[in-house]
Formats: sequence, C-alpha cells, structure tokens
Amino acid sequence: MTTNVTDTTPATADTTNGAAAGETILGGVLLVRSLKQQGVDYMFGVVGFPVSELAGYAQDEGIKYIGMRNEQAASYAAQAASYILGRPQACIVVSGPGVIHGLAGLANAKSNCWPMILIGGASAVSQNGMGAFQEENQVEIARLVSKYAHSLDRVDRIPYYVEQAVRTSLYGRPGPAYLDAPDDILTAEIPLSQIKTVPTVPDPPRPGVPERDIKAAVAALKSAERPLVIVGKGMAWSRAENEVLEFIEKTQIPFLPTPMGKGVVDDDHPLAISPARTLALREADVVLLLGARLNWILHFGKPPRWAEDVRIIQVDIAAEEIGANVPAEVGLVGDGAAIVAQLNQALDEDGWQYPGETTWRSALKAKVDENVAVSAQLMADDSVPMNYYHPLQAIRDTLPEDTIIVSEGAGTMDIGRTVLPNHGPRTRLDAGTYGTMGIGLGFAIGAAIAKPGTRIVDVEGDAAFGFSGMEYETMVRHNLPITIVVINNNGIGGGVAELPEDRDPPPGVYLPSARYERIADMFGGRSYYVTQPEELEPALREANTGEGPAIVHIRIDPSAGRKPQQFGWHTPTN
Ligand code: ADP
Repeated sequence: MTTNVTDTTPATADTTNGAAAGETILGGVLLVRSLKQQGVDYMFGVVGFPVSELAGYAQDEGIKYIGMRNEQAASYAAQAASYILGRPQACIVVSGPGVIHGLAGLANAKSNCWPMILIGGASAVSQNGMGAFQEENQVEIARLVSKYAHSLDRVDRIPYYVEQAVRTSLYGRPGPAYLDAPDDILTAEIPLSQIKTVPTVPDPPRPGVPERDIKAAVAALKSAERPLVIVGKGMAWSRAENEVLEFIEKTQIPFLPTPMGKGVVDDDHPLAISPARTLALREADVVLLLGARLNWILHFGKPPRWAEDVRIIQVDIAAEEIGANVPAEVGLVGDGAAIVAQLNQALDEDGWQYPGETTWRSALKAKVDENVAVSAQLMADDSVPMNYYHPLQAIRDTLPEDTIIVSEGAGTMDIGRTVLPNHGPRTRLDAGTYGTMGIGLGFAIGAAIAKPGTRIVDVEGDAAFGFSGMEYETMVRHNLPITIVVINNNGIGGGVAELPEDRDPPPGVYLPSARYERIADMFGGRSYYVTQPEELEPALREANTGEGPAIVHIRIDPSAGRKPQQFGWHTPTN
C-alpha cells in the first residue's frame, strides 16, 4: 500500500524565470534557481573559489545565505536545518580543501540518516588532470560518505542533477547528496531555450504495510509479558509524533526514547521510563523498535544489555535494516507515521491494552524512582567546585519554552541527556550516531535559522566548544537567539586545576585559566562567567532573555564525573 502525503512543495518547474526566448543564463544562476525550485530556502557555507558568486546569486533568488567560519560547521548547520525542516537544505564550499572539510558533515548526515546537499566548487573541467588550483577527485571522495554524488557536468542538465540529488537525499532512508560544481560550468552561459525543465520533487511517499503484517505485530505485542517500545529519531524525521503518542496511550506500553528520539513523546509522559533504561533493555521480552537501529547506541540488541531471546517487532523505512544484528520476528517496512497509524487502527478494532498492574510495570517504576532519587541528590549537591548535575539542574529549570537543545561533550552530553527534558519532536540535536564532537555551534545555527523566533540552548563541554568556537561570530553577525553554555572541566574527559610545571601538559588537558565567555568581548553579545552555585540561575535566565547570542561559561570540578553506571557506554561484542 502506498499513499502520497499532501504535496506542500511548489509545483512550478520553471527555472527560466519566465525569460524571453533568446535570453541566456549563467550556470551558477541556473544552479541556485534549481535549488530554490526544489525547496532549498537556506544555504550555509564559506565562499571563495569558485563559489563566491553563487552565494550572491542565491540571495538574489530569495535563498537565505549564512556565511560561516569553517566548512565543517557549515555542513553541520545545513543538516540540522534539513532535519528540522523536513527538506534538504544546502551548504556551499570551495574546491579541494573546502570540500574535504565539508565531508565531515556528509559523513555525519549519512550516519544519522539525515538529508542535506553539499555543493562543492571544483576546478574547471577544462583543466582536469593538469594540476589546477585546489584540484581534487571530489566526487570520488564524496561518494563514500554520501547517498548520492555527481558532477554538474553540463550546464543544461543542472536542473536534472539537482532534482535527482534532492529526491535521493529525501526519499526512503534520508541521506546526504553531493554535487560537484566546476568553475567553467558555473561561469558558462547558455540560451534559456536549451534548458530542460524538471518537476519539483514532491514530499516523500509514505508507504504502509499489508494488513497481515499489522496483525502479526499486534499478536506479538499481545503475547508479551514485558513489552517495551523504543522510539528512535527515524520517528522524529517521519513526523510521527501524533501517531506514536496515540499508540503509547492506547496500549499503555512503557517507552524508551533514544537520544534524539527524545521528545517525540514528551519526556514527562508517565509511560516514559528513561531512568530505568538499563533494566528495561535487559528484561524486555518483546520490543517494538520504531525508527531506531540496533547499533552501538542500543548496544546491538545483544546480551549482556538485552535478553538473549528478545523478540523484535521492527519498523523502518529501509528494508535492509530489518533483522540487522538481531533477527526481527515481524518486520514492518515503510514510513513510521503511516505504519503506527495502521497499528492504531488495528488496536481500535481489537481493543487490547497492556494491563495496568504487572510485575514489569512495578519493577520499572521502582527503578525509575530509585534512579531519579540518586540524580536528585547529585543535583542538590551545591559544593564548590561544582559537579555536572547541579549546573545541569539549573539549565533544566531555566530552559525557554519550545527550545531546541543542542548538546555535545562527553560528560556534558551524557549526563545532560538524563537531566534535560525534551517536550517536543526534533528538539534535541547531539553528537548522534557518528558520535561527532564539534557539531554543536553548527547545529545551533542551523536550528536557529530553521526555527526563527525560538531560543536555542546549546550545552557544550569545553573541549567540544573548542572545535567550532569561532562560529560565535556567525551567531552575532546574524543576531541569532542562541545561548551557548560551556560546562568547563578543563579538558577531554576532565583536566587539572593547574598545569604541571615539571612536565608537558597531559594529553587531554586544556588551559585551566581559559575564559571562554570572553569571546563575546571580541564580537559582542552577552557573556557570563559562573563559578558559584548561586550565580547559575540568574546568569542562565538573563542569557535566555533578550536578543541575539549569549555565552555562559560554567566552571566545574576538573575531576567531576557521572554517577556510577552498571555498564560502560561502549558495549564490547564477542
Ligand atoms: P536512533 O539514533 O534514534 O536510534 P537511528 O538513526 O539509529 O536512530 O535509526 C533511525 C532509523 O529510522 C533508520 O534506520 C532509518 O532508516 C529509519 N527511518 C528514517 N526515516 C524513516 C521513516 N520515515 N519511517 C520509518 N523509519 C525511518
């Protein structure tokens, strides 16, 4: 069964802009018109050879251009905007090294199953192989970390390639697309009459599944003693929030979001059991896996973190994902929102609900209560230097309504995930499937551009902030409402209170006297430096109020850590 969702994209296929016969067009102008036709409203990038004019053409065509300081951050911004908007947005980079830096974003988007389009300037086709300025085999390199990679090898075919890139990026399992834009293609001029127009890519099809598969899934759920629903970021992408909430409430099955599945159903929902995650994964006998892969984030679905004989009902748009690492008892291949709507309909007819009082429910509840109490104790601890939990509690208590939380850093991100709640879909962006450090400021910029009027709270470890701190200037230049909170433990996984005098600094240690908030002295915006517990809330509240970016630097104990964990984050496999 295949149904199309309402097509919200413009139906025009006219990249010639209604020009009279005999008129000509530049390759670069045709490229941005084609992008605009395909729903690209935002372009992030770093200009230079041969894409400088492209950014200007984009502005002329009504595409908002955000010039950034580093191609990595720009490609992260483009994918965050794409994920939030549900349509691929673009990033432009210069040839050679620019493309190489931009690959970081392609790889990250591929790993996260997110769309985006990277457009790499390239040396002229007429100089291929001659040792041209910044010459590189860009398409070949990009192909490894993209879902689609092609050169714009003819001016008249630019609309065709853009359509193909957008469609491939968006349809099925989303992923990044790469377009190589050679200098002599961008600057070539051809008659408008030679251009072949193409259709605008409609929103993706939303395939459902045959009734017999729905029946099998419902039967498996009904046979469960200890059922669990896992909500992944595939459901956030699918915009399945209404369907998943209805399903959870109809069935009363406890659910566990993955890091970026957080918020699809409100973290405060009574059936959310995140604080009992370890117990839930280890003991569940039937798991409904919604848009989440059994990769490292879910410990591969294997013992010791999961039950040996766990039964999996798996919903995924990618057929090849069904059965990955653990065979699926029922595989439902299609769109998450469409399939959960089918499940809901079947349950309406069946009337089944997981019982209100079971030993599974009470075991989960007891564990939730126990772990919440431990965290509450750590959050209440206001000793100086501060731990992670106390500042995170203050960040939690001062979060603006409807915010998007961006988060990276080891301790900061991992502990932050357990303390900072998400109340809506697509409101958490973090290091993700690829575990990338350095995504934070780019993601925050992409989120602020995609959701104007929303204050973004970007909670960074000091090491993570260092990867792209200069993007603060981009935030000031565009007056973006972003609060950056740097939780500083002086290094990667912790540091020292003072650098040793008798040896080189230890490998992961950063300057203990660093004053990260002073980056605002260079560029503007508001800044706060916090060392004492009582300074936390006033600083955070002020930072979150008012216009433009603000930076709050919170100094914590260099040896601060996580509460004791039963398992390490990295589960070894046999
Ligand atoms: P998480 O990190 O939240 O566990 P993953 O990135 O591992 O999530 O998995 C997301 C999954 O969602 C991918 O396997 C992807 O194919 C799937 N997916 C993407 N779009 C859809 C959709 N529209 N419907 C269902 N599944 C989807």
